[in-house]
Amino acid sequence: MARYVFITGGVVSSLGKGLASAALGALLQARGYTVRLRKLDPYLNVDPGTMSPFEHGEVFVTDDGAETDLDLGHYERFTGVAARKTDSVSSGRIYSTVLEKERRGDYLGKTIQVIPHVTNEIKDFLAVGEDEVDFMLCEIGGTVGDIEGLPFFEAIRQFAQDKPRGQCIFAHLTLLPYVTASGELKTKPTQHSVKELRSIGIAPDVLLLRSEHPIPEKEREKIALFCNVRKEAVIAAPDLKTIYEAPLAYHREGFDQAVLDAFGISPAPKPNLDRWTDVMDRLENAEGEVRVAIVGKYTQLEDAYKSIAEALTHGGMANRTRVKAEWIDAELFENDDPTPFLSNFNAILVPGGFGERGTEGKIKAAQFAREKNIPYLGICLGMQMAVIEAARNLAKVTDAGSEEFDHEHGKKRFTPVVYHLKEWVQGNHVVARKVGDDKGGTMRLGAYTAALKEGSLVSKVYGATEIEERHRHRYEVDIAYRDQLEACGLTFSGMSPDGRLPEIVELKDHPWFIGVQFHPELKSKPFAPHPLFSGFVRAAMDASRLV
Ligand code: GLN
Repeated sequence: MARYVFITGGVVSSLGKGLASAALGALLQARGYTVRLRKLDPYLNVDPGTMSPFEHGEVFVTDDGAETDLDLGHYERFTGVAARKTDSVSSGRIYSTVLEKERRGDYLGKTIQVIPHVTNEIKDFLAVGEDEVDFMLCEIGGTVGDIEGLPFFEAIRQFAQDKPRGQCIFAHLTLLPYVTASGELKTKPTQHSVKELRSIGIAPDVLLLRSEHPIPEKEREKIALFCNVRKEAVIAAPDLKTIYEAPLAYHREGFDQAVLDAFGISPAPKPNLDRWTDVMDRLENAEGEVRVAIVGKYTQLEDAYKSIAEALTHGGMANRTRVKAEWIDAELFENDDPTPFLSNFNAILVPGGFGERGTEGKIKAAQFAREKNIPYLGICLGMQMAVIEAARNLAKVTDAGSEEFDHEHGKKRFTPVVYHLKEWVQGNHVVARKVGDDKGGTMRLGAYTAALKEGSLVSKVYGATEIEERHRHRYEVDIAYRDQLEACGLTFSGMSPDGRLPEIVELKDHPWFIGVQFHPELKSKPFAPHPLFSGFVRAAMDASRLV
């Protein structure tokens, strides 16, 4: 049965709990253990699928089609373990399950209460798959003391109590602020945070302390004494140059050792950190640089495209070069020539997105890349834009557009080259949707297989003719236009196995122009860069040599 590490946070949010959890996962793997990571989010949305990327960052999609928090992306990037539906839960999901059960009469007339009904539901979630791995790492979103978080804290307290002694430990991440006037690191906020945690019955075993400065021995002793934690379990989490330094840096500070000590695992197996030294070597000893324009809508908030930014970095690492990605707002040149905005780049990427705003700019970006022979990677909406561009300017369907935009405006303005998909095949069953369906969880979601055309650029990029990639979209390129578009040079080089849904398009007479209906960025890892991103960066390097 798995050992559980619960990771909580205090003092302020955004301290990097997700990253710390992911790094701990990587370090336990490096010691030969199997791990799974889980996120429990206190907000009331049933899942982040309907949340604005502005507010909550990107929605990370799992193979089995769950729309989850972006922290699950970190977990996968650091451990390579594919997350599942059962690795992410919110208060909203827990409450809706409890209320459904109540309506069904499952509780046999009992009064439904936070304790035990809500907490039991959370404990059931924690227990899923407990026999599958050595360690289950569960991160609680938010900070201790938040009203919404209380049922989760109560549930993990109970869960640890239900298990045999020594099977669950608690790691708490806080901040040591530095007060310039006195030149000191302050421990009081951490003391208060731990006090809060202990008042709800949780005594932390390991403290992870974010600080801009090294923690003096005296302060470490003080924290250990006041927070009732062993001195060796007071771990510094220093600021890092790159997130990928976290496993090595946290190991140096003794994080994984402190966790194993807390479980009483002795002697602890020695870690093999080769994977992470190689990752750091590739990042630190990169040669040259390529510039990539990401033409999108949510350009102010990088978290909205977290996985794309990371996948580009991985693509750079595969080629031992640096990728400088710049976010360009597509609306800037909707009515202008994009040349001044785009001519400075070695490659153009148009990412996924929803809604019409900015799409005319994205179409122009695709046209610019096509005409100027600049490497282009279109992801989901970025593929749809490339197809609309080719339809308008090559196949002369001058009013080509997406039904998505007509639906948004409630009137018909375009010839729908991209249409609303209402029925498709998943595995061996048919999925059906209607236009007015709920917005949450109703897209074509999760992993689907695609068959790649022999001899195509993508089949070379992947080195395969069958692939599996993750999807998240409602609209689809219409194969009715395939012959017309292929005659103009836009090849449909990847299709769903039943041949009905275009998964990939590429331009025949172009050095590297690929549009994909799925999200390859979600499967890229620093130690296993995604082939589309390695290929894209390589094409950008080739293009940079030409100019
Ligand atoms: N809005 C488009 C659709 O729903 C594209 C979605 C995306 O880019 N993820 O099909």
